[in-house]
Amino acid sequence: MPELILVIEDEAAIVDFVERGLRGEGFTVASASDGIDGTAKALDDRVDLVVLDMMLPGRSGSEVLATIRDARPTLPVIVLTARGEVEDRVAGLEAGAVDYLVKPFALAELVARIKAQLRVALQAPTTTARSGDIELNLITREVRRGDLQVRLSTIEFELLTYFVHNRGRVLSRAELLNTVWGYDHDPGTNVVDVYVGYLRRKLSQGERRAPITTIRSVGYRLDDAD
Ligand code: CA
Repeated sequence: MPELILVIEDEAAIVDFVERGLRGEGFTVASASDGIDGTAKALDDRVDLVVLDMMLPGRSGSEVLATIRDARPTLPVIVLTARGEVEDRVAGLEAGAVDYLVKPFALAELVARIKAQLRVALQAPTTTARSGDIELNLITREVRRGDLQVRLSTIEFELLTYFVHNRGRVLSRAELLNTVWGYDHDPGTNVVDVYVGYLRRKLSQGERRAPITTIRSVGYRLDDAD
């Protein structure tokens, strides 16, 4: 069975171009021209991947994405954004989009992204990482502490994943900055401290503080056990 790709986009010319291109690659393609129809179709479990435009009539791309993420957390989504829609782009990533493409894009690029995402989705075992009572699902990006679910943004999730993989080890701000943010920041930035603060707040439960220790003038350590 060829994979079914759902294209949610209101610009007919783009839908036409993408549909023809994807069919040429052997995919089955369905489309929706507004956010309401798009949401309904995305929740059909025959859909294997969604190409989602951010600017849509009916419901915005961010709203569509939020619904998809709640209902089908592992469904790959490739978000299309116009150049300059930086806030939309960030909102899309925060809501868990697996990938995004800036318009105008080459069909070959979209096809490459789709194939990559489908490969990941096919292989997807339920992979978890754990430290003490903190558990991360690396596929669905769900995080729990004990019995309670913790909602994290994309960056917070990446940061916590790195902490969990390196639990018990002191991580410098520079290491965290390079690994999680992945590019050269102003070394004077306090972004690491800000995000560790977010993580601590989200991971603490009443009297039980988040198990992240500040190592003065160095960085942070995730303590292994409770
Ligand atoms: Ca649009």
